[in-house]
Amino acid sequence: MNALDQSLLVAIVNRDGVFHYVNSKFCEVSHYGKGELLGQNQSFLDSGCHSKSYLKEMWRMIQTGKVWKGELRNRRKGGTFYWVDTTITPFLNGNNKPYQYLIIQIDITKGKAAEERARYLAHHDSLTGIPNRTKFNDFLTHAVVEAEKNQQTMAILVLDLDRFKMTNDSLGHRIGDQLLEEVAGRLRTCLRGRDFVARMGGDEFAILLPDISKDNDVVLLIQRIFDSLKQPFQIASQKIVVKGSFGICNYPKDGEDAETLLRNAEIAMNDAKQKGKGRFNFYVPELHKILHQTLKIESALSHAIELEELKLHYQPLINLRTGEIIGLEALLRWERPNEGLISPVHFIPVAEETGLILPIGEWVLRTACEQNRAWHEMGHGSLTISVNVSSLQFEQDDFIERLDRVTNATGLSAQYLKLEMTESLFLKNTEKIIERLNHLKALGYKLSIDDFGTGYSSLSYLKRFPIDSLKIDRSFVNNIANDADDAVIAKTIISLAHNLRLIVVAEGIESEEQLVFLQEHQCDVGQGYLFSRPVPSENAGTLLAKKSYRRKEKKHR
Ligand code: C2E
Ligand code: MG
Ligand code: MG
Repeated sequence: MNALDQSLLVAIVNRDGVFHYVNSKFCEVSHYGKGELLGQNQSFLDSGCHSKSYLKEMWRMIQTGKVWKGELRNRRKGGTFYWVDTTITPFLNGNNKPYQYLIIQIDITKGKAAEERARYLAHHDSLTGIPNRTKFNDFLTHAVVEAEKNQQTMAILVLDLDRFKMTNDSLGHRIGDQLLEEVAGRLRTCLRGRDFVARMGGDEFAILLPDISKDNDVVLLIQRIFDSLKQPFQIASQKIVVKGSFGICNYPKDGEDAETLLRNAEIAMNDAKQKGKGRFNFYVPELHKILHQTLKIESALSHAIELEELKLHYQPLINLRTGEIIGLEALLRWERPNEGLISPVHFIPVAEETGLILPIGEWVLRTACEQNRAWHEMGHGSLTISVNVSSLQFEQDDFIERLDRVTNATGLSAQYLKLEMTESLFLKNTEKIIERLNHLKALGYKLSIDDFGTGYSSLSYLKRFPIDSLKIDRSFVNNIANDADDAVIAKTIISLAHNLRLIVVAEGIESEEQLVFLQEHQCDVGQGYLFSRPVPSENAGTLLAKKSYRRKEKKHR
């Protein structure tokens, strides 16, 4: 299963609106089982709240072969309502008449409810209903004043759930959300009346214990929380056991204002995590040393360019119809003395956190463009080089000037440089981003969305961005040949992306089965170990000399 599969409701209905296919998300959101939906007319989900003309217009459009997009309010089994952002795409027969409709939906119920609850949410966490970070800060600031006046001591605890991201990624955000809700509930039952708990964001909670003088009392409370979390949570059909790591600091010993107290409790919590999770840790000033070590990695990384420890490897992209190499993706490596090659997944996050990604990203751009220019001069004049661009880079005010400087200096024409950006970039500050993308496009640069399916963007949303291609995420290509749900979604992505005139690239192709599936479903371009691993530039030259990866020729149309 993957994130895309879990976030989209997918159904196929026939010409009359009768369900032929529904995915599990569709069932999960509507509360109906597959057996209850298949064979039924989709109209029985109708909530009755849309005007006749709204639905009539929808039918008119799709019956004439056009794609319809809009919001629908549907009725669940049991009578409650849910909201879905909906795209309906007709499948046309030889006479251009629709014979089936593909329905793709995103559950936006929470967003709708949130609109109505905006005022309440300013101080409460929308998911768990307990106070949020803002409220905690206010409360702590006030508590510090009171404690000072009354000469009292307090404890501040920060709890972060262990491996929550994994739970969220593997079981889905809906289950992740429910889990957070129930954790908040259990925390509350462990606390005394005057204690204060808040959700600080993500899977992090903070607790204020006013008027507590002994560390032992804090430990007893933490033990009570650990015991409570040990009881498995039963969510949907899943039994989930949760562990967490606590950091603790005391007022006034470890800090005299809200900001310092919270920061020190977090430092202590991070240390507990590093020591092996599922434990608690009191703040001690030495913990600042640990922070120092992270700073050392940062500083080593900041010298990596001048010490020439950064390298680029290149992985070919193959035209799945002709077998030709049409380009290569530049992938960063850090070669540290005595430590070998370090994968970008380990140091890019640090580089992004510290802003080092800016000089590093610029080095990558320049090196990759120089290399592509060299390949062009060696006779591979049509190759495009793909470069991963982090949001931080893209959002620099002078990003386009910097880019132009690189292409001018290396003499590579913009059309042979493709910028790969992840979905997260597209989800923020939309207008400004669209403007910048349009500018880049006008200058001739190629634009691609990377790791599609891991975030929350919908295909209909992509329409607003002037991009050239879409890369289906590797996690997703993985199961394509043996998971029916994944296969349907892959087909859907390809077909809708083609509707939007996007080139579809599949990354992480490792097997012949995956390749055949992708070829049969008209995926345009492929990349993966099946063709080649990322290799140093010298070896990439040898690959290029080979020219073609022609496989399964019969399958090409
Ligand atoms: P990405 O851009 O999605 O790159 C594809 C990743 O998938 C690469 O990992 C590649 O080695 C790996 N891969 C390719 N084919 C296969 C396959 O068949 N099977 C498997 N299991 N893996 C495959 P890599 O090189 O470790 O890079 C990881 C990520 O780091 C990249 O993901 C990209 O997001 C980031 N990254 C790499 N270079 C740069 C860079 O120069 N700048 C920035 N900002 N990010 C970079
Ligand atoms: Mg990439
Ligand atoms: Mg990718």
